Amino acid sequence: MKRRVHSQEIKDAALAKLAERGVTIRDIAQIVYEMQSPYNEDLQLNECEESVRSVLLKRELLHALLVGIELDVLAEKGLLSEPLQSIVASDESLFGCDETLALGSVLGYGSIGVTTFGYLDKNKIGIIKKLDTKSGKQVHTFLDDLVASIAASASSRLAHHYRDAEERANDRQEDADEHAS
Ligand code: MG
Repeated sequence: MKRRVHSQEIKDAALAKLAERGVTIRDIAQIVYEMQSPYNEDLQLNECEESVRSVLLKRELLHALLVGIELDVLAEKGLLSEPLQSIVASDESLFGCDETLALGSVLGYGSIGVTTFGYLDKNKIGIIKKLDTKSGKQVHTFLDDLVASIAASASSRLAHHYRDAEERANDRQEDADEHAS
């Protein structure tokens, strides 16, 4: 009989894998803070953390995390078949499937999600840089892109929320001005 997997189990597994691979919510929130604080001087790190937690509820992103981290771990153990084993283990720059897998989950956050992901892919910052400059036998071919995708999604989510809040404040001001006149 097929086993139906509950979404909570998927979420728990994906978050556990992230932690096992040395990535914390705080690490990703710090990237979000760096991306968004130039546009919002009141931004707090805990808002960034909250945004990261929120995007980590998306089923497709959790699935991408499970797939990508699994492939990294199998490559680390030398368990993939050739030529994929060598391609993933060497983080071949024209492989492309790592970025493609990660890109899918930013698409729900508008074009700003895509451009932020592209920026993070080029300018690896924070934990992404750390993952990219891994030591020894560690393989993070998929994980660096997946972290960039989570950070890009959480940044875009904040940007859209701030714009909505700004508009609501403007609308309230206009209403107040109308009443006063
Ligand atoms: Mg990669």
